[in-house]
Amino acid sequence: MKNFFRLQIPAVSENESFARVAVAAFVAQLDPTLDELTEIKTAISEAVTNSIIHGYEENSEGIIEIEVSIEEFIVTVKVKDMGIGITDIEEARTPLYTSKPELERSGMGFTIIENFMDEVTINTGAMQGTEIIMIKHLTGAKALVN
Ligand code: ATP
Ligand code: MG
Repeated sequence: MKNFFRLQIPAVSENESFARVAVAAFVAQLDPTLDELTEIKTAISEAVTNSIIHGYEENSEGIIEIEVSIEEFIVTVKVKDMGIGITDIEEARTPLYTSKPELERSGMGFTIIENFMDEVTINTGAMQGTEIIMIKHLTGAKALVN
């Protein structure tokens, strides 16, 4: 059975931890391993933080949409903002590249997401907002017995 939820939240940093916990609570029904859960939480945290800091440049009127669906042992997480978008996605995905070095960002968010999730698709463009779709296949023993 496919199960899902959708969430719309203002782009404020308090909601980053809320999103992380909400996604973890939902995914818990698949009985993931602790490592898998930590990886999903970290990926969502990076994506939501990017929407807040880069997409909306900390304008709290921006809305972030989150959709999580689970089917069998596959988790799909979408994080979408209607913010400034990304002009050069190749550059943005390069490890250590950040457009905000003055904020002491390390430019590792996308790299972390790509390492922790199995498939990552980014739909974006200048002034078109950014949607990141992240898929993870749970492989822990717990996930397979269910
Ligand atoms: P870190 O995540 O390590 O704090 P960072 O956010 O700069 O630093 P990444 O998360 O890898 O690094 O993102 C790389 C770059 O991609 C950002 O500096 C920014 O220019 C751009 N970017 C990422 N997400 C968005 C977004 N939602 N909207 C607009 N630009 C984005
Ligand atoms: Mg980032």
